[in-house]
Amino acid sequence: MLRTNSFRILKGAPDRKNDPSSHLRHERIKELLSGKIYLAKIKAALADHENGPGENSICRHGRKKGEYKTQYSAITEITEKKITVYYFANKKPCEGEWERIEIQKAANL
Ligand SMILES: [Zn+2]
Repeated sequence: MLRTNSFRILKGAPDRKNDPSSHLRHERIKELLSGKIYLAKIKAALADHENGPGENSICRHGRKKGEYKTQYSAITEITEKKITVYYFANKKPCEGEWERIEIQKAANL
């Protein structure tokens, strides 16, 4: 599942002409995650600066005050025994290390 804060499915959703940023970011993440998907590929995609960095890039941040910026990114990996969430909170995914939370599933669930 991919989410880039784009609003495209429901009736009344802005078209590419009226909301180019959502369309550019959604098209770019689909392009980057085509083929086999693995964790490092997703992390790299979320730090991507194509069409930016700025409003139109997946990792959003400009160089001027008041520009769009990514505030939260998360990847959830679910296996039979555990759930792992990799995340950035109030940081850009292109800088620093991903934080990680791991939740073990109970044996009786
Ligand atoms: Zn960035």
